[in-house]
Amino acid sequence: MVLIAVYPGSFDPVTNGHLDIIERASEIFNHLLIAVGKHAVKSPLFSTAERVTMLKEATNHLPNVEVDWFDGLLSDYVRQKGARIIVRGLRAVSDFDYELQMALTLKKLAPAVETVFMMTNSKYIYLSSSIIKEIAGYGGCIHGLVPDNVEAALRRKFKPE
Ligand code: ADP
Repeated sequence: MVLIAVYPGSFDPVTNGHLDIIERASEIFNHLLIAVGKHAVKSPLFSTAERVTMLKEATNHLPNVEVDWFDGLLSDYVRQKGARIIVRGLRAVSDFDYELQMALTLKKLAPAVETVFMMTNSKYIYLSSSIIKEIAGYGGCIHGLVPDNVEAALRRKFKPE
């Protein structure tokens, strides 16, 4: 059986916490489809195209990983791709309520699809795209927390005029 998994998210931008989940999931599933939600964040810092490009660059060492974007219901996207598994990452207890709501809603809309949770790597437990944007916005050092291409993109975004 070929296991196709979808890892959906905003990835605004992708961090090393996301990348750790991607690398581990790519070892378990035959094919991992990273799905960037077009409207997942109200006012994203990076456009959908920029987020997709950064993810492609950061994962090009992983042959069974593909990067795509979606608009609309995740349940429809997953069905359309012939996938049965959704991968999500869990950090602290604070992630749990939202993830439970998402997983149960998805179960209602697409009963054949299972959400699989992977625990964060303890190195990245505190890491989120929002904290990265906040640090980078104030000119702080984000080296080692995001892939190099993302670090460069953030530097360009926040470069003083
Ligand atoms: P969303 O807006 O859908 O939550 P994110 O891009 O913030 O999208 O996150 C996508 C998924 O990755 C979520 O399941 C989130 O919990 C998980 N994630 C984010 N950061 C980390 C991290 N540092 N370690 C593990 N999982 C993470």
